[in-house]
Amino acid sequence: MDTQDDVTDPVPSRRVRVYGHEFDADAYALRDFLSRSVVRFDWIPVDVTDPAVLVAGRRLDVTRLPLVVFPDGTELVAPAVREVADRLGWIHAPRRQEYDLSIYGAGPAGLSAAVYAASEGLDVVLLERDAVGGQAGSSSLIENYLGFPEGVAGAELAERAREQAVRFGAELLVMREGVRGVFHDGRIHADLADGGHVVARANICATGVEWRRLGLPREVDLLGCGVYYGAGTSEADGCVGEQVFVVGGANSAGQAAMNLSRSAAHVTMLVRGPSLSATMSEYLTARIQAAPNVTVRTGSRVSALLGDARLESIEVTDVRGSTSVTAATRLFICIGGQPDTRWAAGTPMVRDRLGYLVTGPDLDGAPGALDRWPLDRRPYYLETNVPGSFAAGDVRAGSVKRVAAAVGEGAMAVTFVHRHLAASD
Ligand SMILES: Cc1cc2nc3c(=O)[nH]c(=O)nc-3n(C[C@H](O)[C@H](O)[C@H](O)COP(=O)(O)OP(=O)(O)OC[C@H]3O[C@@H](n4cnc5c(N)ncnc54)[C@H](O)[C@@H]3O)c2cc1C
Repeated sequence: MDTQDDVTDPVPSRRVRVYGHEFDADAYALRDFLSRSVVRFDWIPVDVTDPAVLVAGRRLDVTRLPLVVFPDGTELVAPAVREVADRLGWIHAPRRQEYDLSIYGAGPAGLSAAVYAASEGLDVVLLERDAVGGQAGSSSLIENYLGFPEGVAGAELAERAREQAVRFGAELLVMREGVRGVFHDGRIHADLADGGHVVARANICATGVEWRRLGLPREVDLLGCGVYYGAGTSEADGCVGEQVFVVGGANSAGQAAMNLSRSAAHVTMLVRGPSLSATMSEYLTARIQAAPNVTVRTGSRVSALLGDARLESIEVTDVRGSTSVTAATRLFICIGGQPDTRWAAGTPMVRDRLGYLVTGPDLDGAPGALDRWPLDRRPYYLETNVPGSFAAGDVRAGSVKRVAAAVGEGAMAVTFVHRHLAASD
């Protein structure tokens, strides 16, 4: 980290400004985080061959990018996302030695659980490894969530929920990833990736799913340099006049295509199956079919990503096995998600074959799951096979993968947490 706190900006801005190269992965990570966190910021793509770019009246050092300039004039050079979050005042140590409830994951399920738990008087901590909002935070427009007839941007919905949870007294710790949990003395003792430690009498795992990858060579190298996961809410404005590609045929891909079609010259959806997914909402299917600059190419899968410093073209293979190479500057991958519950491997928690946490009555169908269940009662509906440890939202086996379902499960899990705590007092 390199900071220069004494630079006076002759044109003070009330917004954060990010200077960087358009196809730089670190600059993308910052933009993505700020946009999902609903921080008002200006993105200033820098032509690294132009020596005349001035920041705060002095020449920008294009070898030291990205540069983040804060409204108070302070700067961070080539910072990690965590450093920016820290500078925004968002990184805190846990305030309590022990909580009634710890919640992992601040997507819709975790935020909802935090709102209800805090409003009902529990000492609750909500831990998020990244930006608040989860998958919903990366949705450009959620149109089927109750009460928003015009739709609502996912990041805005998440920001409102964050504010509500904090207002009720929930403690929010962002950039904190739970990596290990041990259950003993009726508590969960969790280790965090940054070395921290959180103890609670009950916990809700609301860690959702993460983007499934194509599994192609160069995919990781080109991430943020023309390859993106999700709807690319922070990227849409940069696609003006471009031909862009979206991989996937379900709701998230449909939303991405419609969002990008506002600025891109053309959007091509590459769909593996013979048609858009049956799970895509009807209103989205109709809009895609009516959009003059969106084409759906079915029976097509991306088989190679080509380009050195940035994506330049993609190879597409059709159902007959024929391949073609097409020029492409941006590719948005929206092919669903998978849970990251590797941390549960060291616990007695039962997961299904895909890694989703099994809860409630579904435990009856998992051989041996309840052999060491110590209580007279059966596990509650959202309870795992560890008493007091619950799962809500997309991470739960059999859950409905929708914002409303995740919000509902978060709220419902808190009811069971109360019952568990009352019985263990
Ligand atoms: C682009 C897109 C568009 C969508 N559009 C719609 C829509 O229009 N309508 C609709 O109903 N649904 C929509 N969905 C689905 C909906 O967003 C999800 O069903 C919902 O977000 C699930 O909420 P969740 O809280 O269970 O999990 P998530 O939203 O996945 O949130 C989980 C959170 O947990 C965090 N996390 C993960 N592991 C850890 C850890 N170890 N420690 C701490 N934190 C951790 C993650 O960073 C994440 O923030 C969309 C999804 C996507 C991706």
